[in-house]
Amino acid sequence: MSAEPSATRHRIAILGAGLTGLASAHRLLELADERNLPLDIAVFDAGQRCGGIVGTVERDGYLIDTGADSFITNKPGALGLCQRLGLADRLQATDARYRGALVLSKGRPQPVPEGFQLLSPSAMWPVLRSPILSPWGKLRMGCEYFLPAQPTDEDESLASFVRRRFGAEALDRLVQPLVGGIYTSDPERLSLAATMPRFQEMEREYGSLIRAAYATKPTKSDDRTSSGARYGLFAGLQGGMQELVDTLTQRIQPQVAFKLGWRATSLMRSGETENYQLDFENGQQERFSSVILAIPPARIADLIAGFDAPFSQALRQIESASSAIVVTGHNLSEIAHPLNAFGLVIPHRERRRILAVSFSSRKFPNRAPAGKVLLRTFVGGALQPELFALDDAALEQLVLEELRDTLGVTGAPDFSMIVRYPAAMPQYTLGHRDRVATIEKLQRQHPHLEIAGNSYHGVGVPDSIHSGEQAAERILTESTGLFHQESGN
Ligand SMILES: Cc1cc2nc3c(=O)[nH]c(=O)nc-3n(C[C@H](O)[C@H](O)[C@H](O)COP(=O)(O)OP(=O)(O)OC[C@H]3O[C@@H](n4cnc5c(N)ncnc54)[C@H](O)[C@@H]3O)c2cc1C
Repeated sequence: MSAEPSATRHRIAILGAGLTGLASAHRLLELADERNLPLDIAVFDAGQRCGGIVGTVERDGYLIDTGADSFITNKPGALGLCQRLGLADRLQATDARYRGALVLSKGRPQPVPEGFQLLSPSAMWPVLRSPILSPWGKLRMGCEYFLPAQPTDEDESLASFVRRRFGAEALDRLVQPLVGGIYTSDPERLSLAATMPRFQEMEREYGSLIRAAYATKPTKSDDRTSSGARYGLFAGLQGGMQELVDTLTQRIQPQVAFKLGWRATSLMRSGETENYQLDFENGQQERFSSVILAIPPARIADLIAGFDAPFSQALRQIESASSAIVVTGHNLSEIAHPLNAFGLVIPHRERRRILAVSFSSRKFPNRAPAGKVLLRTFVGGALQPELFALDDAALEQLVLEELRDTLGVTGAPDFSMIVRYPAAMPQYTLGHRDRVATIEKLQRQHPHLEIAGNSYHGVGVPDSIHSGEQAAERILTESTGLFHQESGN
């Protein structure tokens, strides 16, 4: 066998031109360049544009991220890619003046206690001063310091963990809405180990989360004063998240065949070298030696039902939730609340019809004209699926009523826009890690076939990018072996 790659061109298909698929293609090209490998890459997407869930539009002077608007920077996936693409100067920090989140409490927005990070306070004084918890709720939360660790090997739900450590009030009034703002999930069903294992580790290591917070000194990049979903660690792009999509697309365009509007309908395997056959809704058929499936698991399950039923069944076990974002632009003078935060999250117990409101132009000031404010209101999720089913007019009316009641928004908005994300948010429910292990075991039976995306090891933009890049690395490592064999024959 030769150590040198042969000149055989390796045909690789990537299904899905969301961030995962684009990051896969980009990583393949980076590695091919380093190793001087000839690759034929085709990226297919059912839609007419690249970016999937991620997109940015301009309207009436507003700059609107229609899906994800920022990403966490303490995971390397997105930040590293932006740096490699030369986008470091285009990264936009969130506006420090408004850093922090509000939570609705008895109908009124209240600041999340300073330093409260998703599940756990990093200091007790701000909790004691906050009106969100009752005196008993505060006492119960403070008792966490003294409670012995009771780590379990069972897959514990996030709700059970928080109730056990901090009490039911902390769960219902703080943690559920903050976590719901990220996962749009039911905390009773959410697996702690699959979503936030670091809190389990803190219990194991320090016995108590409060003790862990006091024992671990914050690093410089750790903004101890930020609250909610650690907003201080998030970054966006000056031109909106579409800037990342556009830059990625432009970078890979010369070496990749983009096939937009091509919906794959089946994937079959044959014994030949180019051993995967893809069928498309437009009647076309193509063959590839490797395939990266960067589309949601339920869609992969549809494609492979004919050639590997157990694999298909395993992928169907990953549930997802649907949500809609109602985007509205308003005169600041017509809003009673000062909007002195990045957003408002709504506990389920408040019995409102919205999940959260992101104050987009407080997070990133360039998102609205002077004197205006851009709001993105989230509706639906795992706990209120019936609201996602409402038609656009009903959804808009509902959101305007909720904005009036919670934030004192009056007057007609400059515009409103509804973006729907059906079955787009994977639910990491109890047993998730086992389900993923099964899926990956079944996937390994198919050489040169990879799955990637935010349904397996993390739901955010950095996780998607990392997952896509890893799939590319595995494909190329495997394919390099293939190249060696071919040249040796
Ligand atoms: C409402 C919402 C807000 C979010 N906000 C944030 C945020 O602020 N920060 C953050 O870090 N993360 C956020 N996320 C998560 C983040 O957006 C995702 O992790 C990421 O965009 C997923 O990218 P992807 O490429 O895996 O999937 P997608 O973007 O869904 O791309 C999949 C692509 O596959 C295509 N496709 C599907 N089926 C087929 C088929 N049969 N044939 C061909 N193509 C097909 C689709 O058209 C789509 O373009 C948010 C998610 C949602 C739903």
